[in-house]
Formats: sequence, C-alpha cells, structure tokens
Amino acid sequence: MQRPAIQAVSSASQRRGQLKALYRLMANCRLCPRTCGIGRLAGEEGVCKSGVRPMVASATLHHGEEPPISGAGGSGTVFLSGCNMKCVFCQNYPISQLGVGNVMHAGELARRMLALQKNGAENINFVTPTHFAAQAAHAVYLARRKGLSIPIVWNSSGYESVEALKLLAGFVEIYLCDYRYATPELAKLYSAAEDYPSVVEPAIHEMLRQVGYFEGKCGVIIRHLCLPGHLEETRKILGRILCEFGAGMPVSFMSQFFPAHKSAQYPEISRKLDDDEKEAAWEVLAQSGLENGWTQEDFA
Ligand code: SF4
Repeated sequence: MQRPAIQAVSSASQRRGQLKALYRLMANCRLCPRTCGIGRLAGEEGVCKSGVRPMVASATLHHGEEPPISGAGGSGTVFLSGCNMKCVFCQNYPISQLGVGNVMHAGELARRMLALQKNGAENINFVTPTHFAAQAAHAVYLARRKGLSIPIVWNSSGYESVEALKLLAGFVEIYLCDYRYATPELAKLYSAAEDYPSVVEPAIHEMLRQVGYFEGKCGVIIRHLCLPGHLEETRKILGRILCEFGAGMPVSFMSQFFPAHKSAQYPEISRKLDDDEKEAAWEVLAQSGLENGWTQEDFA
C-alpha cells in the first residue's frame, strides 16, 4: 500500500476546530463505539467511567515497546486511566478498570509530555487513549505550542469510532493499534464488546488513510496478542489483516500473554501459552503471507 500524500499542515484554527468537535462528541458521549449517550461534559460517566478531565496513571520512559517505538531513548509512555473495553485478562487492570491515576488539566498533561521529551523520549505514547481522545489531543495542541517536537503514538485497543479518529488527523503520527478479535462471540465473552470485529477494520482503514504503513517515525502498526487455546482466532485475524490491509502491513506479533485480572474465571485463558503453542503460533504467522513486522523476541 502506498503511503498517502503528506497531509497539508493544519492551521492552528483548524486544530482548534477539531478539538472543539472532539469535546462536543462528549456532550452526549459518542467518543467511542459504545455510544453511551451520557453527558460527560456535565459530569456523567459512561462505560469507561471517565470524566471530562484526563486521568493519568503514569508518564514515564518505557523501553519495552516495538524496537522503532522504544528507540534508543525510550518511549514517553502516558498511561491514561479507565478504558472503554472490559477485557477480563487486562494486564493493566488497576489502571484500566480500578481507577488508579490522577485527574489533571490538559495543561498539566502537556507539561508532563514536555518533561518526557526533555528526558530523551523518542515519542509520546498514549496508552489506551480512546475515551480521552479530546483531552489527549488538547494536551498535544498545548504541548506543540510549547515546543513538543517528537511524534505522538496512539496506542489503542482498536475499539475506536471513525468519527473521532477523523478528528485526530494531524495530532497523531503513529497508530499502534490492536487487532484483538475477529469473532464477535469471543469479543463479547472476553471484552464485552461484541461489535469489536465490525469496528476495528474501519478504524484501521481511517488510521491508514491518515498516516499509511509505519515507516521511519510515522504510520500504522497492528498489534496482535495470541490468546492461549485460540490459535484459530489468531489465524483468522492474520488472514483478515492480509486480506484487508495487504502483505506489507506491519504487524507486531505478541505471544507473551499471562493471565491477569479475571482470567482465573475463564479456565481456557487462565494460563500462559506453552512452548508448543508459541511455536504453532509463529508457524501460523510464517504461513500468513504477512511480510513486515516484529515478534516478541525482537523487543528489548
Ligand atoms: S468514551 Fe466512555 S462514555 Fe463515551 S461512549 Fe465511550 S465508553 Fe461511553
């Protein structure tokens, strides 16, 4: 797939227009596919249990991302609290589900981002930002005006609304997007998001429209985490990626699942992948026809 023509640099007024539109999506919230319809601007909370100000669990340098994301200096990782997914195996569940974090203004978040840049961060990596899309973009806008020059990474579950993503154009340079499920029943069982398979592909198409395949310091990377006992789901997902996005689509293939949060209630995923399963998963990847990307062994 060809990289799209470089987007014209938006004017400050265009960016402000995008920000206003993003905040307006929270009035009867449809910032994500849950479309809760509640008044977040008036203090109501929907499925993500998030308010109008960003809530941040941590902002630190992280060296364990994909090699081009971590780089030499580390990725300036900003963990946003809450989540619009309800994954029973979430490894970050204290942050995503239990509300660990601090509420702050977008200006304070912008200052944290600038501090990460000063400390050598290669980029600003928003982890699980979907439900705070307006606030994260707002912080980017403020930080850019104060000298933030490193790329913005949108490290997302893929459970995104195309309407909101369109408004992020120009705020985000790298989309690091999960493809978790191709089967609605699994998406419902493990993440209470039956529509995930119908949502994730349009979302990735919009990301690709904005920034193309990952190359250098810009573009889309799809992440896939293999679940124990679900090799066929992995095969199906890789097939969908090949069919929908092409053989050159960069894919980060992860096999380091470990059971967390409520995994113990689901015996089939209450364990790590064993060595045979990992080998079988890598074989599925090798046979998939996908040509670009990384496996966990390539990480720091
Ligand atoms: S961002 Fe939160 S409140 Fe808004 S639609 Fe999604 S889950 Fe609901």
